Amino acid sequence: MSAGGILLLGRAGQVGWELERALAPLGPVTALGRDGADLSDPAALRALVRRHRPGWIVNAAAYTAVDRAEAEPEAAFAANAEAPRVLAEEAGRLGCTLVHYSTDYVFDGTRRAPYRESDAPAPLNVYGRSKLEGERAIQASGCDHLILRTTWVYGARGRNFLLTMLRLMGEREHVRVVADQVGAPTSSRMIAQATALILARRGAGGPSGVYHLTAAGQTSWHGFAEAIRGYLPETAARVEAIGTDGFPTPAVRPGYSVLDNGRIAADFGIALPDWRDGLRLVMADHGALGGAGVSG
Ligand code: NDP
Repeated sequence: MSAGGILLLGRAGQVGWELERALAPLGPVTALGRDGADLSDPAALRALVRRHRPGWIVNAAAYTAVDRAEAEPEAAFAANAEAPRVLAEEAGRLGCTLVHYSTDYVFDGTRRAPYRESDAPAPLNVYGRSKLEGERAIQASGCDHLILRTTWVYGARGRNFLLTMLRLMGEREHVRVVADQVGAPTSSRMIAQATALILARRGAGGPSGVYHLTAAGQTSWHGFAEAIRGYLPETAARVEAIGTDGFPTPAVRPGYSVLDNGRIAADFGIALPDWRDGLRLVMADHGALGGAGVSG
C-alpha cells in the first residue's frame, strides 16, 4: 500500500459500502459520503484531496439515476464528468492513483458479441454520455488511473433490481419484466473485492487504463427476475416477459451490453464468477439479514 492511505468517495452507495469493508485490509481508508465529499462542488473536492494527500483515490460516487438524468443533464455531467476531471487533475498533481467506475451504458448495444475496451463507445442516453465524458477527462489528465466498467449492479442493500423484484414478488401476482435487454448482473461485493485484489496486486505501479469488470455469463432482466423467483418457493408471483416497448422509460437503454472481461483477467488474474453464483451468494446474505434467502 502506498503512503497516504485510501480516500474513498461514495461510501453510502452499493459499491462504496462494500469498498469500505473490502479495502480495509490494505491500509487506512477515509470513507466519505455526500456530506463529506460533494461531487457537485469542484472547489471543495479539490481542497479535500489536497488536504488528505491520499495514496489512492477510489471514486464510487456517481449520479446513477439513469432516467432522471434525461431531465437533469447538468447534475449528471457535474457529478459524472466534471468531478472525475477534478479528481484526476488532483491525482496527477499528487502522483497518486485514481480508481473510478464506469458503465456498459457507454455502448449503444448494437453488437451481439461481448464489448471489448477497444470498441468504440456510442452512448444512447445522458447518463452514458456523462460517464463517457468522465472517462475521457481522466484519460486526458495523464494521471495514473484505473477505470473499471461494470454492469447491472445489485446487492443485499441499496437501490437495485434484486431488491425491487423481491418487494414486487411479495406484493403482486404478476411481475412484467423486459426480456430484450441482455447483460450481466454483477454483485456490488464482487466488484469491491476484485478492486481490493487489483490494488493489492498492482501496488503503486502497474497496468493502467480502462478495464471491463463484470460477472461472467449473460442474461436478460427477465432471466435475472426468473432466477430471483427461483429463491422464493412460497411466492405466487409469475414473471411475465415483455419487450422494451412495453415498458417505456425516459432514457433509451442498450439492447445488448455484455462486456468482455479478458483484459482484466490477463493483467490482474481477476475473473468474477458466473452471475448465477453471484446471485446465490447475495441471496444467502439477504437471508442472513432477515429477508428471503438461502442458507449455505
Ligand atoms: P449508487 O447509486 O448505489 O451509489 C452512488 C453514490 O453516489 C450514492 O451514495 C450517492 O449518494 C452518491 N452521490 C450521488 N451524487 C453525488 C454527489 N453530487 N456528491 C456526492 N455523492 C453523490 O451507485 P452504485 O454503487 O451502483 O455505482 C457505483 C459506480 O458504478 C458508479 O460509478 C456507477 O456509475 C457505476 N455503475 C453502476 C451500475 C448500476 O447498475 N448501479 C451499472 C454500471 C456502472 P446519495 O445516496 O446521497 O444519492
